[in-house]
Amino acid sequence: MLIDCGEGTQVPLRARGWGLRNLGAILLTHMHADHILGLPGLLLTLGHTERGADEPLPIYGPEPLLAALRALLLFAPRLPFPIEPVVLAGGETFPLAGAEGVQIGCAALDHEVPCLAYSLTIPRAPRFDPERARVLGVPVAEWKRLQRGEAVEVGGRVVAPGAVLGPPRRGLRLVLATDTRPTPALPEFVRGPDGTGSDLLIADAMYGDEEDKPKRWRAQHLTFAEAATAARDGGARRLWLTHFSPALSEPAAYLDRATAIFPATTVGRDGLTETLTFEDDGG
Ligand SMILES: [Zn+2]
Ligand SMILES: [Zn+2]
Repeated sequence: MLIDCGEGTQVPLRARGWGLRNLGAILLTHMHADHILGLPGLLLTLGHTERGADEPLPIYGPEPLLAALRALLLFAPRLPFPIEPVVLAGGETFPLAGAEGVQIGCAALDHEVPCLAYSLTIPRAPRFDPERARVLGVPVAEWKRLQRGEAVEVGGRVVAPGAVLGPPRRGLRLVLATDTRPTPALPEFVRGPDGTGSDLLIADAMYGDEEDKPKRWRAQHLTFAEAATAARDGGARRLWLTHFSPALSEPAAYLDRATAIFPATTVGRDGLTETLTFEDDGG
């Protein structure tokens, strides 16, 4: 999955050896140049992999997605695979092709054009109690079905999954939100439908300080402090700041504006990676 595609996106991906062959979907936050102008180059690069006519590439985004794709595809004609555009309004959820159980969600932000935040959620199965399964006489061959949440029949008796599975467990949730001015929709989306928050929020942090906001137009972006406030209010575990103004020559110099509100903040940079793991649930 790739979220947004600024100019030259394929260059650092190739430099890191991150193949594009299995790209399941492209999610576009909004139709501003810095988020979409890299599409022709990326799609042409993808065209040089073995991806063929039977492997369509879904591209999701808000309006005017179709007009933007029509324009951008002029520069990448004759792709060997079909593009499947999907227009989103915010609030939709859908599976990520090729990644079982993974769900994408989106929410409308507040920018000068329609703009979406995206979430990626990975579910976690409840804990399976093999001792209980043995006591109930369920053969090992049937355990997988119970783990999937199906009931099984053992010697004329029905064993429900609830008999061998623990309580629901929190999975993983990642949210990327850029570009936006402060909006209550953001912490609400970070918190998620089950209210347990996000493991990582990657957020617009265009301005280090209030004073950096251009006076001549209404601000369209967050400050470091506003991004940190959204992370705190949404129950995020970690925050990455990104989308810095070109005027911020040293974004790290403003880190304290964010950490004063939300300590677990990282100033984003090219190539930053993080491995998210399920929270320890004490067992
Ligand atoms: Zn924008
Ligand atoms: Zn932008």
